[in-house]
Amino acid sequence: MSAATEFLAPETVRAAVAALAGDEDAVAVGGASAVSLMMKEGLLLPSRLVWLGRLPDWDRVESRPGRVHIGAGATLAALARSQVVRQALPAVAAAAGVAANPRVRAVATIGGHLAHADPRQDLPPVLLAAGASVAVVGPAGERQVSLDDLLVGFYETALEPGEIITAVEIPVAPGSRQVYARFNPASADDYPTVGVAVHLVAAADGSVSGVRVAVGGCAARAVLLPRAAALLEGLRPSAAEMSALQASVEADVPVAGDHRGSEAYKRRVAGVWARRAVEAARAGGGPLLSRS
Ligand SMILES: Cc1cc2nc3c(=O)[nH]c(=O)nc-3n(C[C@H](O)[C@H](O)[C@H](O)COP(=O)(O)OP(=O)(O)OC[C@H]3O[C@@H](n4cnc5c(N)ncnc54)[C@H](O)[C@@H]3O)c2cc1C
Repeated sequence: MSAATEFLAPETVRAAVAALAGDEDAVAVGGASAVSLMMKEGLLLPSRLVWLGRLPDWDRVESRPGRVHIGAGATLAALARSQVVRQALPAVAAAAGVAANPRVRAVATIGGHLAHADPRQDLPPVLLAAGASVAVVGPAGERQVSLDDLLVGFYETALEPGEIITAVEIPVAPGSRQVYARFNPASADDYPTVGVAVHLVAAADGSVSGVRVAVGGCAARAVLLPRAAALLEGLRPSAAEMSALQASVEADVPVAGDHRGSEAYKRRVAGVWARRAVEAARAGGGPLLSRS
């Protein structure tokens, strides 16, 4: 921070928006895990840091009719240990509990995580598969944005200047199962090479509905793969149908190879792990498949 950088800690959302609006060099701060690194590297030279941690109900996590409400200031560590999240959205809790390392999880907020829009992050695919949306407040008022619409590209969101994320809303379908498959052959606290999240509702006869498949770590943003999900809808998927799912994910997932894996490698990993995640969800096992 330069000597000229102002630090503000507003106590109302309105004051926070006012502090951010009209100054393109003002920066919102959640847990500062990314902001501090970007400042250290000289990528960010804020005129003003607007810390959101004093806003009312900022870290509130609660069950509401048909959904879970998560205040934007809830940390990843808090999500990992929240009984509400662990019970209703176990894959969200599991992903929050393995992202990064304990020091980062202790401060990083869900609002900062989603606004940061790093394509390698763990929560975006899980929250996409869960059908999450975010509450956004800015100079023009309040709006609800699906996570799919919020995520635009490489470190890019649909947030307008001065807008902040105030909460994440995640629907909870009775009987739903979620699995997050985190493939990470590097050290345990490294970013995943590929992360695949699956959501489905399993009926007593073994058939599945409400299938959603999302993949992170492959392209400029985490993506939903509706064609692959539709292949299983209403079925008791056979081995042939599971192979079709895998092939569809491998064909459809947008991939840019990087130092963690070539394009062909990541495609293959996404397909194989999508298949494994669906199988695990159908079997009703734990919410996390991880390889590191
Ligand atoms: C060493 C290290 C390892 C990591 N490894 C992983 C990993 O394995 N998996 C993973 O998923 N992530 C990983 N991360 C990324 C981590 O998840 C993000 O740094 C973190 O989620 C950002 O949250 P924050 O609250 O600290 O955001 P901040 O640093 O405070 O802010 C990040 C961005 O979001 C904006 N912002 C913050 N809050 C809001 C808000 N409420 N509304 C609008 N804009 C806002 C800021 O202006 C900034 O642009 C790692 C980070 C570090 C430093």
